[in-house]
Amino acid sequence: MRDFEPLTEEQREIRELVRTVAFERIAARAAEIDRTAEFPWDVVELFRENDLFGIMFDEVYGGIGESSLMTLVTVEELSKVCATSGLIIAVQELGSLGIKLAGTEEQKRRFLPKLASGEWLAAYALTEPGSGSDSAAMRTTAVRDGDEYVLNGGKRFITNAGVASLYVVFAKTDPNAGHNGISAFVVEADAPGFEVGRIEPKMGIKGSTTGEVFFDDCRVPASNRLGEEGEGFRLAMRILDRSRPGIAAQGLGLAQGATDYALEYAKTRETMGKPIVQHQLIAGMLADMETKCEAARGLLYKVGQMIDAGETGPELTKLSAMAKLYCTDVAMEVTTDAVQVLGGYGYIQEYPVERMMRDAKITQIYEGTNQIQRLVIAREMVQPSVERRRNSTTVRE
Ligand SMILES: Cc1cc2nc3c(=O)[nH]c(=O)nc-3n(C[C@H](O)[C@H](O)[C@H](O)COP(=O)(O)OP(=O)(O)OC[C@H]3O[C@@H](n4cnc5c(N)ncnc54)[C@H](O)[C@@H]3O)c2cc1C
Repeated sequence: MRDFEPLTEEQREIRELVRTVAFERIAARAAEIDRTAEFPWDVVELFRENDLFGIMFDEVYGGIGESSLMTLVTVEELSKVCATSGLIIAVQELGSLGIKLAGTEEQKRRFLPKLASGEWLAAYALTEPGSGSDSAAMRTTAVRDGDEYVLNGGKRFITNAGVASLYVVFAKTDPNAGHNGISAFVVEADAPGFEVGRIEPKMGIKGSTTGEVFFDDCRVPASNRLGEEGEGFRLAMRILDRSRPGIAAQGLGLAQGATDYALEYAKTRETMGKPIVQHQLIAGMLADMETKCEAARGLLYKVGQMIDAGETGPELTKLSAMAKLYCTDVAMEVTTDAVQVLGGYGYIQEYPVERMMRDAKITQIYEGTNQIQRLVIAREMVQPSVERRRNSTTVRE
């Protein structure tokens, strides 16, 4: 039979390493991470030791120079057993992308090696209390003062708040210029005037911190601005094109992890004289779950390959939104079905599928809700962004 595996021999070896780390070291911790809702620094240490942060960085900046596809595979494999752990890798990529895409050589050399080794964790700070889906409605400001910018305002729901050493922050440098008045900055956690606020208790991914960050006359060197003034909104959207697949990978990992667990359970649980897997209604559910996972993987890996091939245009925007939408809707459907396959046992905390179902919900919400993904896909179908750019200078990407 022909081999349709998209990974090279070397990449399969890395996947094996990630699987070993996930199943032998993290799986047993996942329930406890969920119960205690404490950020798992031991998992970060494990990632550092095994160079998992390095996968997403070029060798010249201290990484191992692997691909976007491999980063997605890593998030998927980790999320099969612990979505909080998968998210640590996905958000390291999310928080680093602004520097990779818009950073000067000096900025890359200053920041990327610390992120590649995992010495520093990164965060991406776009959302505010009054601006989530409508991110351009943000109110945080940045005013130039000599060689510095002075930031005022606050961000909400920021993953890695309080554990990150570096925050890529979006703020208005020209409040009257709409999308074109937003700029991006690297804010280090020890910047004067930077403060972490409330960490939110939440439904799932409980070990991940989600919190407020505040800027009170926070001074940031002008050399920390990413790109030119006014380019921040476009950068934020370019980042999301490349980071949404990471959330898709988290969703796919959850879905596959739940399917695998439900299958093993169904082979051993007996009712009416036979294992429940031999009842056709259960077998049919499992077949649907597995099929959805495989279809989701096909779409996700295609996007990974597109990014690695250097695709940057509207096709990437569309496919990336599709992967996020499909993989995370599959995550919610399949984890809910896994609970059903386990019956009453699926609903209690002794078994992992109820946690997976709670963890799956957020994948449909963050990095753009799935309503927003549908809008992005439809917009690219109706009038691709290339065409819109030709006709207007103020459109949202
Ligand atoms: C656990 C967690 C972690 C997060 N991490 C980060 C992070 O690291 N960095 C960051 O910047 N943000 C982060 N977020 C924020 C997240 O991206 C936003 O919550 C999300 O984009 C939705 O914004 P909102 O909550 O303001 O909802 P709203 O924008 O108020 O949306 C409410 C509802 O209306 C729908 N809706 C809104 N506008 C439209 C429209 N035009 N058409 C149709 N439906 C619409 C939405 O789909 C949603 O169902 C995180 C959130 C959570 C909960």
